[in-house]
Amino acid sequence: MRRVFWDDPYRFRLETTVAAVDGQAVELEETIFYAFAGGQESDYGDIAGRPVLEAVNYGDRIEYILADGHGLRAGDAVVVRVDPDRRLKLMRLHSAAELVLQLMYSATGGARKTGAHISADKARLDFSFAVSVAPLLPAIAALVNEAVAADLSIECGYWGESSERRSWRVNGFEPVPCCGTHPLRTGEIGAVRLKRENPGKGVERVEIRLRP
Ligand SMILES: [Zn+2]
Repeated sequence: MRRVFWDDPYRFRLETTVAAVDGQAVELEETIFYAFAGGQESDYGDIAGRPVLEAVNYGDRIEYILADGHGLRAGDAVVVRVDPDRRLKLMRLHSAAELVLQLMYSATGGARKTGAHISADKARLDFSFAVSVAPLLPAIAALVNEAVAADLSIECGYWGESSERRSWRVNGFEPVPCCGTHPLRTGEIGAVRLKRENPGKGVERVEIRLRP
């Protein structure tokens, strides 16, 4: 199954073929429909007009769960559509979160990340860290917003030691292994706002939102 969302994350409509059907689960020959991975939530959309209820990532393949009685069969030609607004927000927030992550690592001297989640309205990063990260956030937000203002190019591909794994990098920075979708330039991310939360003892959370 070809992941067209990697080659072209701006493609929101695709004509393809059903590869396999198992009850409610449908697999496609090619797909533009991202399935939850690396903390990035799934796209919303439909296959041949049938809403996708859930997209499940098995690593080497993705299953799309449709309503009972969807009527699709292997070999059927279908049109896949994804919600462009949601995808664009997810990829902007994904890139913002990873920039914040790199800056948090250097600002804290290597705080341990314990979780990450990217939805369409906000992203969050959790760290195991004993003191409040609040004092670090203004400088980190300023650096992210500087990179946004510089409108640096973003590349995705396979480099160096991690050449087995897909990575992304901002021009001039180290590649970061990532299976998500990213815009082509940092300018598309837009300015971000950071907020510190403290969801539990010893857990520091950084919440990232896009400025409207
Ligand atoms: Zn990522």
